[in-house]
Amino acid sequence: MASLGEFEFIDRLIKEPARQGQAFFRNPQALGIGDDAALIPELPQGEQMVIATDMLIEGRHYFADVDPASLGHKVLAVNLSDLAAMGARPVAFTLAAALRTIDVGWLSAFMDGMLTLARETQCPLVGGDTTALPDNAPQVFSVTVIGALPIGSALRRDGLRDGDDLWVSGTLGDAAYAVSLKNPSEKLLRPSPRIALGLRLRGVATAAIDISDGLQSEIGHLLTSSSMRGDAPHGFAAQMRLDALPLGAGLREALTREDIGSDQAIEWAITGGDEYELLFAASERDRSAVRDIGYQLGIALTRIGSVSIDKGAPGHRNTIEWRDAQGVAPGSALQARIDRGGFAHF
Ligand code: ADP
Ligand code: MG
Repeated sequence: MASLGEFEFIDRLIKEPARQGQAFFRNPQALGIGDDAALIPELPQGEQMVIATDMLIEGRHYFADVDPASLGHKVLAVNLSDLAAMGARPVAFTLAAALRTIDVGWLSAFMDGMLTLARETQCPLVGGDTTALPDNAPQVFSVTVIGALPIGSALRRDGLRDGDDLWVSGTLGDAAYAVSLKNPSEKLLRPSPRIALGLRLRGVATAAIDISDGLQSEIGHLLTSSSMRGDAPHGFAAQMRLDALPLGAGLREALTREDIGSDQAIEWAITGGDEYELLFAASERDRSAVRDIGYQLGIALTRIGSVSIDKGAPGHRNTIEWRDAQGVAPGSALQARIDRGGFAHF
């Protein structure tokens, strides 16, 4: 495979393609790749900046034989998903790439996957860094995305209120099912960040998070953050409905074929990572507002539980309880697998 130097890589594979079709560059204050740093134009009056970084490491978040266009899509998508979860609109992003070799074919496909999503979301690549790795070191791709939103309107993790409903977008479990089949699905390879949903949830959702590590673990993050908020210390209890879980189409087909049992399907839906759906809370009074948003965007929004302040809980203890329609808890084997929760990094 042909190789080229870092500067040629930046010029040929990044610099021009990164500008194409991006309205950002029409602003005379904007400056993209090529200088020592990028320039972001002044934000509209009353907006604040939002920043998120996420990286993908070879052998840990993806395998060396992954389709490069899907990987390029994904490294930007996971960052846009973080913006979506805050309710922010994308402004621009940078890419840091640590590469063993500059493999032109592989990298053009990678850039193509990334820049296609960048154009679709009007989020231009405005800079980055490229470094050479020692032989055998795993490659790393790190994206930092910049977004914006009206000051004070961010959807934070710590906003839960007593009695809020918990909602989830889309369906769950298909990404974990695909991993188990070693057959990467569209959902796993090309997650579609819920940007439009995040924007519409501002002023409606009280708290939000994107599902990267698994639903159970993200519910835990909402409870923990909210229980550490400034007001009187208390825990939160989440009452969750097993029968309300919106199972992915792949999982439902596998259940029909009896390839998997319902405990397995539930486990993947509750603990599977890489979904990039939004988990959010909203007041019971806003049920119809949330449903309208789902209809208007053509996105399934499902109410899967609720939270209440647990006044009896000492300190900041939080609990998550799953029950089916009859009020029956999961069997002990399934409960143990749920308790192991999502994906722990350390
Ligand atoms: P410097 O030495 O000033 O850091 P570099 O040679 O690292 O300059 O980068 C030159 C230009 O190319 C900069 O504008 C930088 O933002 C951009 N650049 C470098 N690598 C990447 C990359 N992987 N993706 C996007 N832009 C990049
Ligand atoms: Mg540099």
